[in-house]
Amino acid sequence: MDKYEKVIELAKRRGFLWPSFEIYGSTAGFWDFGPLGAALKRRIKETWRDFYVIREGFYEIETPAMNIEDVFVASGHVDNFTDLMAECKKCGEAFKVDLGLEKCPECGGSLGDAYAFNLMFKTSIGPGSKRIGYLRPETAQGMFVDFHRILRFYRDRLPFGVAQMGKVYRNEISPRQGTLRLREFTIAEVEIFIDPRMNEHPRFDEVKDIMLRLYPAKERVINGVDLEISVKDAVEKGIIKHQLMGYHIALILQFLLKIGLSPEKIRFRQHKKDEIAHYASDCWDAEALTDRFGWTEIVGIANRGDYDLKAHAKHSQTEMTVFTPYEQPIMRERTIIKPNVRAIGIKFKDKAAKIIEALRTLEPDQFKEGVIQVGGEVIPLTKDLVEYERVQEETCGEGVTPHVIEPSYGIDRIVYVLLEHSFEEEMVEGEKRVVLQLPPNIAPVQGAVLPLLSRDGLDKRAREVEYSLRKSGFLVDYDESGTIGRRYRRHDEIGTPFAITIDHQTLEDDTVTIRERDSMKQIRVPIEALSGVMKKLISGDAIFENVGALI
Ligand SMILES: [Zn+2]
Repeated sequence: MDKYEKVIELAKRRGFLWPSFEIYGSTAGFWDFGPLGAALKRRIKETWRDFYVIREGFYEIETPAMNIEDVFVASGHVDNFTDLMAECKKCGEAFKVDLGLEKCPECGGSLGDAYAFNLMFKTSIGPGSKRIGYLRPETAQGMFVDFHRILRFYRDRLPFGVAQMGKVYRNEISPRQGTLRLREFTIAEVEIFIDPRMNEHPRFDEVKDIMLRLYPAKERVINGVDLEISVKDAVEKGIIKHQLMGYHIALILQFLLKIGLSPEKIRFRQHKKDEIAHYASDCWDAEALTDRFGWTEIVGIANRGDYDLKAHAKHSQTEMTVFTPYEQPIMRERTIIKPNVRAIGIKFKDKAAKIIEALRTLEPDQFKEGVIQVGGEVIPLTKDLVEYERVQEETCGEGVTPHVIEPSYGIDRIVYVLLEHSFEEEMVEGEKRVVLQLPPNIAPVQGAVLPLLSRDGLDKRAREVEYSLRKSGFLVDYDESGTIGRRYRRHDEIGTPFAITIDHQTLEDDTVTIRERDSMKQIRVPIEALSGVMKKLISGDAIFENVGALI
């Protein structure tokens, strides 16, 4: 068994991940999150919200998963969100053909001609199938479409960011990477709208010394070696385009470490020119090293430029710019039309006043034909009736289409990678111990409540402890079946960081023991202090040995 098989076996058996529609034979690209998987995923999502919504101040919105056709025509997805595919002439299986695939990997038969297959799920909205709808392949478009509303919410000032987390759908041709390539999955995205002239970040100093492992596009061509470099140096050397991009790459790394990925198994890979998505001008992937699939993309960060806003502005005829004042008003020279008042007066008599007024509101390029409309009448004007003049004008600012930096997280992939990175097997007293070394604030079950025996009143006391912890907001699990050793192992395997044991001494002095999963050390604490101790241990505000008497 390779590590992927071991992790998936554990995930299925213990209720993290289940193949969807299993009783009907399952379908590639769909997975259920069982009780522990759903809880783990929720903690990852909450940590993400802590980072982006609370810490960075990017408010979260929710827009529909079902979108009307206009959205994806404007965004380019209807034309460009495709993979090349071909079908096997012998067995009929469909394949993605981006890797120079010539023969069918299933049966060795020859493949038919390749054609572009759009990865969006298409449906119709309402009866009569008149209106085409698409399930969104990313949450980003919902945020671009609402841009004019979001801009007003943020009081018309750049920069600002908006976040969205939700289900997205991609009709992958032949998903063959288990839980890593799904047809329905959760992504968490932020669109950070910036003034294109502003590339600096006010808190860059906070991240400048963080070390990154980079795999930049240029370096790849030369020697294909990863680069260990600080954020500051990477920006100064121009490997990362600017401070803003550097800051957000560092933030991604901080998030991935916070939820428990292995630092030595994370790197950032820059997209080469030929693999950049149709909307992006610079793009990096955070990749995690997996045992079976190698380096795997889990987060993308793209500089989408002004592509999306300009596309939607054009398609919807809606203004999508931000008025940005200059530091000082600028004097500009421009050409204006100057009517020859006297000559027009002589020629047009009582119509002259209206013609003169109309001419004054026109820009020179609106008068190219030499005609003017007054009261529905088209009047040609000869050259002697109009003069042009250069004038100086003061302007205080201009409408700017913001550029967009977009970190985009594949939450389901992160769940799998986290399971794999935290999966450990070790020998303890001649027996194999399987442990999920999840950080205490990410582990789905935060504490196991275990009566040493299921009699002598220990079980009743343990139930009381369990309920008081639940009332304090901890997700705990009561378990009384089997030896205490077996119960410890059972909880090690799902990553429960702390096991609270109720023994005979509990009945005498109202203390319990807490066992730490990774070190297997135990301390004894009074029940009345238990929830305070658990809070500190889970948040990482206290060291295990310091919060109770070591046994
Ligand atoms: Zn075949």
